[in-house]
Amino acid sequence: LQLEPALPAVAGADVAVPLANGSQVPYANFDYAASAPCLLAVKDALDAALPLYASVHRGAGHLSRMTTRAYENARQTVRRFAAARPDDSVIFTRNTTDSMNLLASCVPLGTTVVVFESEHHANLLPWLHRHFVVRLPMPRSPEDAVATAADVLAPGGLLVVTAASNVTGELWPIDELAAAAHARGARIAVDAAQLAPHRPLDMSNVDYLAFSGHKLYAPFGSGVLIGRGDWLRDADPYLRGGGASKTVGSGTVIWASAPEERHEAGSPNVLGALAISAACAALDAAGRPALAAAEERLFAHLRSGLSSVPGLRELSLWGPDSPRVGIVSFVIEGWDPHSLAQTLSDSYGIGVRDGKMCAHNLVRQLLGGTDGSIVRASIGLGTTRAHIDRLVTALAELTTVRAAA
Ligand code: PMP
Repeated sequence: LQLEPALPAVAGADVAVPLANGSQVPYANFDYAASAPCLLAVKDALDAALPLYASVHRGAGHLSRMTTRAYENARQTVRRFAAARPDDSVIFTRNTTDSMNLLASCVPLGTTVVVFESEHHANLLPWLHRHFVVRLPMPRSPEDAVATAADVLAPGGLLVVTAASNVTGELWPIDELAAAAHARGARIAVDAAQLAPHRPLDMSNVDYLAFSGHKLYAPFGSGVLIGRGDWLRDADPYLRGGGASKTVGSGTVIWASAPEERHEAGSPNVLGALAISAACAALDAAGRPALAAAEERLFAHLRSGLSSVPGLRELSLWGPDSPRVGIVSFVIEGWDPHSLAQTLSDSYGIGVRDGKMCAHNLVRQLLGGTDGSIVRASIGLGTTRAHIDRLVTALAELTTVRAAA
């Protein structure tokens, strides 16, 4: 008997949703990869913070100092969660997209940036307008990813790569890619939007890391960019305004040198920072290896259930056995992905995602070169075996109905 560890609870786990026939069923949420529900620990932290806060950094009053302390502690909690180096900068942003745009604005002009064509758009598009970009084709295997990147990486360059695919959940060989980049005098920036909620992070080989609070069981509006300070310190501020500037004269500005000040102009999203750090603390306290192991057992149950659905084809970059986080995408013969997702919601109270997952090149390639949509089911801390059984039963029913029609 496998005993499951006590998992941190998510808010709204028992919410009921209406079906098209007017009845109500408990919601089965399979869209954690888009945005995960808030942890109760995060809600509690926000409830505690909400009545009493004031401006950070510049106020002399008691509440201001208290809020500043909480904000700066949040930075340290996130730093520990990412296993960042002591001298890494930790900059609060809006989300991973914002973090990648911030980093792109700081990477010195003339840097060669290497990206895989298959990247999530948050990780592809920020680089295209300002930098010289080498776009690599979707790799045939993790080893091929390392070899093709190694071929083009050169001193002073930057490799930008996603740690876990938001489409297939597959894990990219980050350690090997980092070693290849560093051996050639280049750096590596990792999009951990999908890795952070599912696996321990380790920045010992990674120069920059980004993730989003809303995929990490905190509400929307907060993310982080963590990494080496030099490029961040030397770049123009991402936003210009108070906090980013040290001295302003008529016609002159001296910008703050600490990246955390230089790139966090304006009043920051303090509650967002407290939320993301409360999520980090709760996941750390629960033990992230144990959470990952529990999720793997649940995910194996999901994939084995899906494999029994007639006509269902699971999509993957590198084959069914490549390691992945709790995300699976598929198509079902005879079903339009959007109608299927809509029917799962309307008739069964099950929420999946359909579309191109902000990774058009990858989805096209997974569909054999044609433009089209797919269905994605992703799990997280509120997912139960009963939810999975409902999804598999619903898909089996729907495919049987189609086959009989
Ligand atoms: N990268 C990956 C791998 C993602 O899955 C996402 C969100 N779908 C992003 C980046 C962008 O995250 P956000 O929308 O929070 O900026």
